[in-house]
Amino acid sequence: MFVSENLNVNEKGNLTIGGVDTVELAKEYGTPLYVMDEELIRKHCRSFKNSIDKFYGGKGLVCYASKSFCCLEMCRVMKDEGIGLDVVSIGELYTAVKAGADCENICFHGNNKTDEELEYAVDMKVGRIIVDNIFELERLDRISKEKGTVANIMFRIKPGIDAHTHDFVRTGQIDSKFGFALETGEAMEAVNKAISCKNIHLKGLHCHIGSQIFDIDPFVEAAKVMLKFIADIKKSTGFTVSELNLGGGFGIMYTENDDPVPYENYMEKVSAAVADTCSEYGIEQPFILIEPGRSMAGPAGITLYTCGGVKHIPGIRTYVSVDGGMTDNPRYALYQSKYDALVANKASQPKDSVVTIAGKCCESGDLIGEGMSIQEAAPGDIIAVCATGAYNYSMASNYNRVGKPAVVFVKDGGSKVVVKRETLDDIIRNDI
Ligand SMILES: *Cc1c(COP(=O)(O)O)cnc(C)c1O
Repeated sequence: MFVSENLNVNEKGNLTIGGVDTVELAKEYGTPLYVMDEELIRKHCRSFKNSIDKFYGGKGLVCYASKSFCCLEMCRVMKDEGIGLDVVSIGELYTAVKAGADCENICFHGNNKTDEELEYAVDMKVGRIIVDNIFELERLDRISKEKGTVANIMFRIKPGIDAHTHDFVRTGQIDSKFGFALETGEAMEAVNKAISCKNIHLKGLHCHIGSQIFDIDPFVEAAKVMLKFIADIKKSTGFTVSELNLGGGFGIMYTENDDPVPYENYMEKVSAAVADTCSEYGIEQPFILIEPGRSMAGPAGITLYTCGGVKHIPGIRTYVSVDGGMTDNPRYALYQSKYDALVANKASQPKDSVVTIAGKCCESGDLIGEGMSIQEAAPGDIIAVCATGAYNYSMASNYNRVGKPAVVFVKDGGSKVVVKRETLDDIIRNDI
């Protein structure tokens, strides 16, 4: 009935998340409101960690892709669960540092890191800086030389895998702004250069083939391509690449049309391919990293809105207006992403109207979705949009000078604010 296992209906007919009444949460904290179920986040952490431990014999590390949802409390939960972090900017790295993260277990990504970002990463002794291009390698070598240290790096490689996903989030193919190409010799050239740099230690290779992927095969293929490259490096230089980071991209259920693969199945198949390929090429099995983002945070979150009005346009459509929109969830405007929604205070009633949920911004494209089946909505109702835990808060903006909503974690029947709602003074805080 619901797309996430943590959602249910209570005796009042209200939607609950992690056992907590969402209508009560809307009353207590106001709307729009992001709500995340801490227990479900932790459950995902454990299921990734247990399966990487099981299938790679403890020689692996799960790093949470913090760009999907990043705040101090989320970083603390990850640390508590023994999960590393993947960051893509100095802002995410700073958040991780302030949350007390172990920087040895951080992967720092990005296709155009600034000198300031590289310097901070070197100062914080980030365990793996994922170098995207040759210019970055040269800058990082200079920066770590100036600081009298050696930077641990991985190279971002394009394995050339088509992951059958939305074009905008497909990154493994050759026409991508991310990483080094294999087929042109660019990647091998970079490896040779890194080996000769005194202030660089090449720890491993990295690939990330896309997002919201439901197939296991592209992950298997990518792992094989990467291991072949590790074998080629060994053969042509004698150098042993000791780590392989296979990225994230595991799909989640946004609507009932989505059919995600259990993480165990993925891990089992990929690890078998890794073991086979290593013995085929006669190389030692590298330490394996994975970087799930969406699959950790997405299913754990929902967004609550208050309905302000309903417009029936005969023969055309019905608009249900909510007090948020593209400012807190730009994914429909960006990718036509589909979501499941319901009227939280009528959760036990049938979903017998088909509507367009519209935000409050001055943009016709400010929609949460079209053709959405929900209960009959009326002004004052609480509208819940499901599986918004990833790439919603982290993609939120202040367009139209709308303040960002609060984020609340629920756990053990209680709730707490982990990110405060932005105030009007927050909106003008940088204005002179
Ligand atoms: C975005 C990203 C991830 C996480 O992707 P999900 O689809 O959220 O799992 C992991 N690694 C890198 C390098 C990324 O850019």
